[in-house]
Amino acid sequence: MIRARFAPSPTGYLHVGGARTALFNWLYARHTGGTLILRIEDTDRERSTEAHTQVILDGLAWLGIECDEGPYFQGEYGARHQADAERLLAEGKAYRCFCTREELEAQRARVEVTGLGFRYDRRCFRLTPAEVEERRGAGIPSTIRFLLQDEEIAWDDAVHGRISFQGRDLDDFVILRSDSTAIYNLAVVSDDIAMRISHVIRGDDHISNTPKQIALYRALGHPQPVFGHVPMILGADGKKLSKRHGATAVGDYQDQGILPAAMRNFLVLLGWAPGGDREILPEDEMIRLFSLEGIQKKAAVFDTTKLEWMNGQYLSALPAEEMLGPVQRQLARSGVAHGDRDLVPIVNAVKARSRTIIHLAEQVAVRLDPPRAALDPKGETLIRKMGPAFSANLELAARALEALDPKDWTSERLLETLKAAAAEHGLKLGDALQPIRVALTGSTVSEPVNELLAVVGRERSLRRMQEVAHQWTGGDAAA
Ligand code: GLU
Repeated sequence: MIRARFAPSPTGYLHVGGARTALFNWLYARHTGGTLILRIEDTDRERSTEAHTQVILDGLAWLGIECDEGPYFQGEYGARHQADAERLLAEGKAYRCFCTREELEAQRARVEVTGLGFRYDRRCFRLTPAEVEERRGAGIPSTIRFLLQDEEIAWDDAVHGRISFQGRDLDDFVILRSDSTAIYNLAVVSDDIAMRISHVIRGDDHISNTPKQIALYRALGHPQPVFGHVPMILGADGKKLSKRHGATAVGDYQDQGILPAAMRNFLVLLGWAPGGDREILPEDEMIRLFSLEGIQKKAAVFDTTKLEWMNGQYLSALPAEEMLGPVQRQLARSGVAHGDRDLVPIVNAVKARSRTIIHLAEQVAVRLDPPRAALDPKGETLIRKMGPAFSANLELAARALEALDPKDWTSERLLETLKAAAAEHGLKLGDALQPIRVALTGSTVSEPVNELLAVVGRERSLRRMQEVAHQWTGGDAAA
């Protein structure tokens, strides 16, 4: 029975790397009919907060990653961690260390001079039982160190294949602090054993912990789980993804108007590929196709443009009714009132050309109130290129549209009218339509102009066209 887990430390927001680890574990559990366990690793008391835990839970819920068990809180298992450490001590697989911080720092400094990596010199391992008792009796604080065997520690990583370390290259690491709290590697192994975890799928940054954890499994007499280390996520410049690259918190993308399904689809492709060149994967497909073998060894690059493209794909496929809530919230945030106007046709008109909910809401705002439109460089170029014809054509179109009976202000009739007007004045259709588009949206790219006019409405469209025609009379010279 597959039992996977996601084990975040609530010491910060939910990073996209963490979210991807959670996603891979979730997909693996769903694909195999296994169980996903959520364990909050809150043993760093100073840095862990309930607020961070909540942000992690909210982020997972937003992404639609449901866990089957938990959240368990590592901080509640201190007694078991301590018992495991003491058992290792009693069995001679660990020893008490009385070295003070200063002594250890002095050892470290000496090693730095020699240029060799630091390894504890085992001076406390050589203490006799009587010496240990004497120090304990005198109330000298002690930690418990694990006694590493000089043996090969290897595993077949589900992502990287065989990875091997030599025990002699590793340090006799501390497993229990002098205040009886467990160090990370012991807490994780103790919990993974107790929670019967079969698969540990986590970031590459944990590879150096894995041999120590395997040594602990061996010492505790428990078979090791399958380990799979997923590659790092890099920014576009090839450096490890960090705040310098922009948003790295899942919540930031939620705020930017990325849809959860698009985020999930984007994240799954960071380091995993379903084969072929498929990119858009609905949830059931992702689950069906996911495999640990499909995870790539090399680091993945976080490409924001691709995320926006992906989001655009999801936005265009989503019925307008299903995005009204977020769009209305965004409009309210930017102080745009929509009164009793039906937003559905407007959203439908613009969603195929939107990258995010925020971008979509901006376009809706312009259609509610065209003077909000900002002239973009393409719009400006068109005005310059057309010269006086820009305003002349705009006025001509406005006159033709004004003559149309208000009840005929429909997409079909608008197109017929504009075609007829262009033909009558010997204009190419594009030269008649583009100025309208620029007047109403500030840009040369939008939904078809007749649809644009229909969603903006008669009064607002005509007023805006006249205003802009007036502003640019004389072409560039009036600018
Ligand atoms: N709590 C660790 C972290 O957030 C992960 C531990 C693990 O997956 O083994 O990096």
